[in-house]
Amino acid sequence: MSKFKSLGLNDTLLQAITDMGFEAPSEVQEKTIPILLEKDIDLVALAQTGTGKTAAFGFPMLQKIDVGSRTTQGLILSPTRELCLQITNELKLYGKHEKGLNVVAIYGGASIQDQARQIQKGAQIIVATPGRMKDMIGRRMIDISKIEYCVLDEADEMLNMGFYEDITEILSYSPDDKSTWLFSATMPREVRNIAKKFMHDPIEVTVGSANVGSSQVSHEYYLVNARDRYAALKRLADAQPDIFSVIFCRTKRDTQKVAEQLIEDGYNAAAIHGDLSQNQRDMVMNSFRKRQIQMLVATDVAARGIDVENITHVINYQLPDEIETYTHRSGRTGRAGKTGISMVIVSKSEVRKISSIEKKIQKKFEKKEIPSGDHICEMQLFHLANNIANTEINHEIDVHLPKLNDALESFSKEELIKKFFSVEFTRFNNYYKKSKDLNVEGGRSSYEEDQKDSTRYFINIGTKDDFDWMTLKDFLKDLLDLGKDGVYKVDVKDSFSFFNTDDTHEELVLSVFKDFQLEGRSVSVEVSKDKGRSGGGGGRRGGGRGRDDRGRGGDRGRRGERSSDRGGDRGRSENRRGDRDRGKSDSDFGGGSKDGFKKRRSGSGDDKPKFSGKRRGGGDKPESKGTGGKRRRRV
Ligand code: ADP
Ligand code: MG
Repeated sequence: MSKFKSLGLNDTLLQAITDMGFEAPSEVQEKTIPILLEKDIDLVALAQTGTGKTAAFGFPMLQKIDVGSRTTQGLILSPTRELCLQITNELKLYGKHEKGLNVVAIYGGASIQDQARQIQKGAQIIVATPGRMKDMIGRRMIDISKIEYCVLDEADEMLNMGFYEDITEILSYSPDDKSTWLFSATMPREVRNIAKKFMHDPIEVTVGSANVGSSQVSHEYYLVNARDRYAALKRLADAQPDIFSVIFCRTKRDTQKVAEQLIEDGYNAAAIHGDLSQNQRDMVMNSFRKRQIQMLVATDVAARGIDVENITHVINYQLPDEIETYTHRSGRTGRAGKTGISMVIVSKSEVRKISSIEKKIQKKFEKKEIPSGDHICEMQLFHLANNIANTEINHEIDVHLPKLNDALESFSKEELIKKFFSVEFTRFNNYYKKSKDLNVEGGRSSYEEDQKDSTRYFINIGTKDDFDWMTLKDFLKDLLDLGKDGVYKVDVKDSFSFFNTDDTHEELVLSVFKDFQLEGRSVSVEVSKDKGRSGGGGGRRGGGRGRDDRGRGGDRGRRGERSSDRGGDRGRSENRRGDRDRGKSDSDFGGGSKDGFKKRRSGSGDDKPKFSGKRRGGGDKPESKGTGGKRRRRV
């Protein structure tokens, strides 16, 4: 008897499971499916990302609903459009042998009328983002008064994004006696509260230990000057020629900028964030899945829960504001039994956050050095050698062989190798030969040390004045012109706030705020006796959904970061198409079967991405000498 059968799943589902090539249930599936099938109870399940939670609630829900009826019986709330679509697609696959099944995705940014029409056809299961769902219930387009099962998927993230009120309102339209199943990777207090409020004696299932990052992921941090962030990112990428990564930035604006810089510099990169249309986001995700994009630069909101195979690296270009978010970021790699690396590029002023993250994820970070130019050249050379060794010979070349032989006759094998490799090596070497060491001395400063060179201020404005920590930080940063990391530990209270600067700036700060007025009100700043705490992470009071959606963050101070690492060359258009065709044109994705779990099917989802290099134009050098002339290089 198949392991899935022993969980109590029916034949139509078992058939679909066989079709998908799932061989054995994952741990969370094994623990939840029998319980959910047997009883109508509430359940809280905590499991890391990539452990198969969708099927853990999807299989039981599909088995329990009545497909003969057109009534909406199941509701799944999830934080983002991408996730919503991903779950919908998975459920359709799981339920493909259920005749009459209609699963409908409801999410913002697409036609509400179209969605309403789909619902009218009779959707037994609705998968929705909270915002749009609330909207449609309000307009009486959706009736959830008869649902029997409600799933809160990625509950921690929904709450992080400020969906608490929307969820409360949505659930107020649902019957009291429904079963609620909450799935989450982490269990912060907010999630506990929601479980208390909306659930009746939920059974709790934990897979692995809650709040702990995947054991498959190793964590590294790199200490650099804030202005070298981008240069450091490039080096990390250049030292990993096969990198297939998600790069996280804090704001939409930074996301867009970093992606644009990478593209200009010749990498196969793209941005994904909330300012893109649904269509654009789908396109980006598709190219990423097909490995045509090697570096996906993303906001936390846009990348949430995205399940793409074999991501090798997660790079935290900037640390998230919330420690919880780090778990989600690093969970994009090391999925389904694979290993992955989560890298953090960190400046001195933020390095203390590393320890807090370690505590949370219960894993140690390794402090690593940004690779030197020499190291990168070496990595690239051996990567190339490897590629050459593994390349299948194209016999169409055979006809030209005699002439080629003639042309190269005078060279020994050794000389040929040298010449051949010089083609690639020279441009890396030229670019990196004068490169400086980007590493900053020192490790994590202790808390006390941290306080030593820093001044904490009290300021008499706060949430009452419509500031949250982020707007206040931006306001101060711009006003004081201290650069991106010049103002930190911003902690906003109701009618006052605190913030820190390096103590060298004390005089400046006090002089700027002497007789300072804001909209007719006098604003005063004093040095605080409380040298201490908090701010940064702890301070999100605004409760607004997705600070990512605000695209804020002053432009000042960012310039330095760019200039050091870019050539002036503008003629990029010829690179634009780049290697698009180099990636596998059709990596079998929608099939839903992923590596790592045992599965029968082969032929898709192969381990190694089939691209040869991340560069569109092939590289890094300002001019194209020596490589055929047609490709433009940039630094
Ligand atoms: P989570 O929600 O926990 O992050 P997902 O539900 O997105 O994880 O599952 C991750 C991937 O693993 C999906 O692509 C899914 O199709 C696949 N998967 C789920 N269960 C199994 C299984 N039992 N065997 C093989 N693959 C599975
Ligand atoms: Mg999931």
